[in-house]
Amino acid sequence: MKKLIFVSLIIFLVPIAAHSQTYRLLCSWAGGNFGQGLNQPTRTAVQASNQVARALEVDYISIYQGGVLNASATVLNNEPVIVYNSNFMNAMFRSGSQWAPKSIIAHEYGHHLNYDTTYYGQFKHPWTKELQSDFVSGLAMARMGATLEEATRALIIQFSSFGSQSHPDTPRRLDAVSQGWYRGRT
Ligand SMILES: [Zn+2]
Repeated sequence: MKKLIFVSLIIFLVPIAAHSQTYRLLCSWAGGNFGQGLNQPTRTAVQASNQVARALEVDYISIYQGGVLNASATVLNNEPVIVYNSNFMNAMFRSGSQWAPKSIIAHEYGHHLNYDTTYYGQFKHPWTKELQSDFVSGLAMARMGATLEEATRALIIQFSSFGSQSHPDTPRRLDAVSQGWYRGRT
């Protein structure tokens, strides 16, 4: 009987543990605080991550819905993952096009490809990390067939002319996406 209680307790606790993961070494699309908890991604999000991986010719990175403000690249159980806020992504989808969420997922791929979520990421200037990831986003968008307008749509929606400590002003970010886009087109 005791053993049965123990086993049921484990079965009950394991899913809870999986949902209360603490994110670390986060790189976000537009800054903000981070919450906890993970949920399974929508089919559309998985398809978008697959499409970005193919465009960049890299391995698929797992994607989850979670308590982040917009979208983030992070590490869970030593695996690179992308966590997105479903309300934010839906708002992007509605006010932009199908391309706006993809450009954000591609940006998070950029953080992983540039090792920003590793120990060494902390030695890079925050703006450098963001601009390099924007470059990768632009490159992926061009390869997926997006126009330059579509590649920069998400940044236009979220426009900030001042930037912050962690994120550059939008004109700089638009320039980085554009440079990546032109590189991806060739
Ligand atoms: Zn970022």
